[in-house]
Amino acid sequence: MAAAFAAVMVAACSAEGSTATTDATIAPTAPASSSTTSSTTTAPVVSNTTTEPARVDPSYDDIPEGQCSHLTVRSIGFRNDTGEVANGYREIGTSTEGRTIWSEHWGPLAGPQVLVFGQVHGDECAPAFMVRAIRERPPTEFGIWLVPTLNPDGLADHHRRTALDVDPNRDGYDLVTPEARAAMHATELVEPILTVHLHSPYKWVGAHNGVLATQVATAMSYAAGWGYPKNAGRVRNGTQAFLWEGQELVVPGSQSVLVEFPATSPLESPAPPDLTQRQEGTVAEVIVAAEAMRDALYATVAEPPA
Ligand SMILES: [Zn+2]
Repeated sequence: MAAAFAAVMVAACSAEGSTATTDATIAPTAPASSSTTSSTTTAPVVSNTTTEPARVDPSYDDIPEGQCSHLTVRSIGFRNDTGEVANGYREIGTSTEGRTIWSEHWGPLAGPQVLVFGQVHGDECAPAFMVRAIRERPPTEFGIWLVPTLNPDGLADHHRRTALDVDPNRDGYDLVTPEARAAMHATELVEPILTVHLHSPYKWVGAHNGVLATQVATAMSYAAGWGYPKNAGRVRNGTQAFLWEGQELVVPGSQSVLVEFPATSPLESPAPPDLTQRQEGTVAEVIVAAEAMRDALYATVAEPPA
């Protein structure tokens, strides 16, 4: 278990890459071994080499294209097509099928850090546009640890759940899945002042557990034109718990914001828990909302309302 969660920091090609390895608790080691890659057994990754973006950072080889790359125009499948390179890359875990779960660091390395889970359910593609928005314009007043996809097996299979057929966002307490354990490992490493959980296909923003979360959720929701935010909520079903609930056991008082984007395709998240809430929007609408919410996130974390 410890080996699976051994954090790996891979210096990027930027000048700040070396600074990113100074976390005293993390011993820089080699990138994921080839055995990790070869243990990946699912393959139905549609290859389209003519449109495939250049792979310029070490996380790309481990993130499958999945169907999100093909469902919608400009959907990036959670890989980086921006041309911007992160400060560094850290392995936070390994999926059930052996895929590396990566995090990328953007913005200042010192000071407050925000953790962003870009994709938790493997058939949710709209969150990729928020991932791209952050990469295109990283924060300047605080740092972001960005996990493009927490569920690379689900992304590869276009499946909501993990390869263990468990909903990772109900696994916050039991931690049956390596994906949920990776989320908790990242929480422990980063000790974020706020975590942003990106999902689809509803169309609302939720706050969980604190003043900053409420302020950020409110700013983000209004920036998107979606009105007053909701409460992100608790599962209240046996030992099941959302990941943001599980994070409270890792970092007491952990605050989170939940963003539910509308789906960008009929094939995106076709069967969410509450089908009556399901919404669809255009890619253009989601991009506009994501960029507005990114800017609201940055402004509110940098200078919370009095
Ligand atoms: Zn979801």
